Amino acid sequence: MEIQTIPHTTHDIRRHVDQSSCKRNGDYIAFLEGVNDSSDLEKHEEEQLEFGLGYDCPLFDRLYDFARIVVGSSVSAAKLLVDGSASVAINWCGGWHHAQRDEAEGFCYVNDIVIAIHKLLKKFDQILYIDLDVHHGNGVENAFSCTNKVFTLSLHKYEPGFYPGTGSISDVGCGKGKYYTANVPLKDGIRDDLYFTVFDSVSSKVFSAFRPKAVVVQCGADCLSKDPLGTFNLTPRGLGRCVQRVLSWGLPTLFLGGGGYNFANTARCWTYLTSVIVGWEIPPDIPDHMCFLKYGPDFELHIVPGNRTDCNTKEYIDSIVEIIATVLWTTRRLRASPHPCS
Ligand SMILES: [Zn+2]
Repeated sequence: MEIQTIPHTTHDIRRHVDQSSCKRNGDYIAFLEGVNDSSDLEKHEEEQLEFGLGYDCPLFDRLYDFARIVVGSSVSAAKLLVDGSASVAINWCGGWHHAQRDEAEGFCYVNDIVIAIHKLLKKFDQILYIDLDVHHGNGVENAFSCTNKVFTLSLHKYEPGFYPGTGSISDVGCGKGKYYTANVPLKDGIRDDLYFTVFDSVSSKVFSAFRPKAVVVQCGADCLSKDPLGTFNLTPRGLGRCVQRVLSWGLPTLFLGGGGYNFANTARCWTYLTSVIVGWEIPPDIPDHMCFLKYGPDFELHIVPGNRTDCNTKEYIDSIVEIIATVLWTTRRLRASPHPCS
């Protein structure tokens, strides 16, 4: 397996966005570019509101340059899979799954995942997108909800008042993309074993029904125990089992980052996942380096789950799997007799 990691490659974001966008999206990107070097960001208040730039997505100095780095890295990683120079690529800096085509949302300014998937579609006609972040991958799902070329599968916390409020189990796509979306709504406190049970069951069913040619995985680390925004109780080892399952399919795969607000644990997680992906065992102790003290008090790679109660019962998980299996039966039937508009 040949693997390449591209942390910071700059591409022309406008070139990629304009290939699949309307004028409104062009307006948003043009605004970001136009204020990139502005010394007075406050005078653009009206446009900021229009493009969702406030609250959790504040406009900041050289935001356009930042977005170019994020998106350029994911597109470069996707390009490696397209030209066959790598079978697996990683961009932990990517995974900004809430951004919409014409506005920022949920800490995400430009959706690098959507643009990278468009790049992959140039070679692979069926892409499976898997979202492991504690929040629903709404921006990616919205982008592909009406196509049968991209199947989006998101596992996330779902309850009233929890951002973004979408991603119910009844949300299965629309138009010729109907039954090419699956959502796994979970409750607080889920732990590694039950999470892997539902991931393995649902993802294997999606795999056999959809038969993807390439896979994109968003590995948001806010699903880990002790994340200040998430309420799951997972560990990096739990996510590592999911990553190993995806790798077992042997398909070109793009791994991306995402949320993660306990920064030390997020770094632990993506470091461990990198070791899983490349097949290298790494020492259990955090090595001495400039941020060493942030890993205290134990200074170990792995974390232990907290005491949060798991509100997900086996019966609840079984019911989710059963409903999604019904949806996927329809997906399989549609693939056997493609939509007339396909
Ligand atoms: Zn998140």
